[in-house]
Amino acid sequence: MKTFADLGLSDKILRAVTDKGYTTPSPIQAKAIPPVLKGKDVLAAAQTGTGKTAGFVLPILHELSENPAQNRNRKIRALILTPTRELAAQIKANIDEYGSHLHLKNLVIFGGVGANPQINKLRAGVDILVATPGRLLDLCQQRVCDLSHVEILVLDEADRMLDMGFINDIKKVMNYIPKKRQTLLFSATFSKEIKTISKQFLSNPVTVEVAAQNTTAERVEQSAYRCDVGMKAELTTHLIQKGDWQQVLIFTKTKHGANRLSDRLNKAGITSSAIHGNKSQGARERALQGFKNNSVRVLVATDIAARGLDIAQLPHVINYELPNVSADYVHRIGRTARAGESGEAISLVCNNERAFLKGIEKLIGQKIPLLTEEGFAPDLWPNRAPTASEVQKADAERKKQNRQQRGPRNPRNSSSKNKSRSNSNSNSNSNRSSGGGSGSGSKPSSNATPRSRRSSSTRRRRR
Ligand code: AMP
Repeated sequence: MKTFADLGLSDKILRAVTDKGYTTPSPIQAKAIPPVLKGKDVLAAAQTGTGKTAGFVLPILHELSENPAQNRNRKIRALILTPTRELAAQIKANIDEYGSHLHLKNLVIFGGVGANPQINKLRAGVDILVATPGRLLDLCQQRVCDLSHVEILVLDEADRMLDMGFINDIKKVMNYIPKKRQTLLFSATFSKEIKTISKQFLSNPVTVEVAAQNTTAERVEQSAYRCDVGMKAELTTHLIQKGDWQQVLIFTKTKHGANRLSDRLNKAGITSSAIHGNKSQGARERALQGFKNNSVRVLVATDIAARGLDIAQLPHVINYELPNVSADYVHRIGRTARAGESGEAISLVCNNERAFLKGIEKLIGQKIPLLTEEGFAPDLWPNRAPTASEVQKADAERKKQNRQQRGPRNPRNSSSKNKSRSNSNSNSNSNRSSGGGSGSGSKPSSNATPRSRRSSSTRRRRR
């Protein structure tokens, strides 16, 4: 088995890796680090949880420290683009640790917080910049961020950046980066879209893949509980109390759903915080901190907000609602069983979600045991599961009825309009960087509203 020293990393980096307690490189690190050190473009299939961050951060630190810039002023030499603020902050924390014996400066920039401190830090000089695409593009367009000296570009979680509609921003950011550079693209999957952008952005890449795409799923003990939709909150409380689970990450489909569930858990005496796109950066960080230091037992999160959370040895994940995109299930349960640990993931499945469960089982190539908890057997569980299109139709009908009951919205109502606008202004950067949590007072949208769907005039106004 290879050691970190075998990979050719410098002593100072090896010391930091030892400080961190790593003994051997993970498979993605063993495969990706050598070609990166050779200066090759790399296309890597690796999910979060595989140690992929060190897979690109360690060789970048090596390169930049072993080949210092000739220019005395610090210029951005490595740029890491990543989909969410949490992931960006996590990568920055890793760079701090892995580079603790080096003298490189790094900075993380994302929306949802004031731009001025970031601009000041950029002016002071940075070697490695970690950024979400929206804020980075803003700062480039304002000409306060100079990417013309970038030597290494990383597109981290590229599949997720595409899902979140960041492709146009990324393309625009590319115009500010030299064509002659080294590019590393990390993605959980090699979809058609990923292949297309890799052809555009990478040149002669070395492709590295670690095992099958969904290996994380194999280390996680998975089960599903059938139940009625109205029983989910109670069943969640029951399972947490019965198992005496002390650290649980729960996924909900919507931000309001996350808030509601978190309130219910708190009322039941289970300390809980919600984390999603409507929360300020400070609130998210406090919630995460509380969860990490065990003062908060349950963190309820939407998919996007949970992206990039690195909580060592997270033992339990609950899918309160199943995601309708099967790959999201794999991302979710990848929050547990990180870096070789094992974990448990349970899903609460109501009749309408049976088709999603089937889709997930197909993707992971595994049957998920479907259990019934005593006292929580569903009233509605006919022999034949509704098909996905039947569920969609019923959903659309339900939404239509809700709209009719609510009556038409009046967009011209000036007070609500102003309120909505001021909220969307104050949250604009947060939306932009996280790929779409809507502002607290603004029109609800899915967590992953594609940026491309927003009009350019709206963007201009927000800026
Ligand atoms: P990542 O996939 O980069 O988010 O990393 C997942 C987790 O694995 C993080 O908690 C890292 O600190 C940890 N990790 C990364 N590389 C190693 C390694 N070689 N040995 C043990 N843990 C690691």
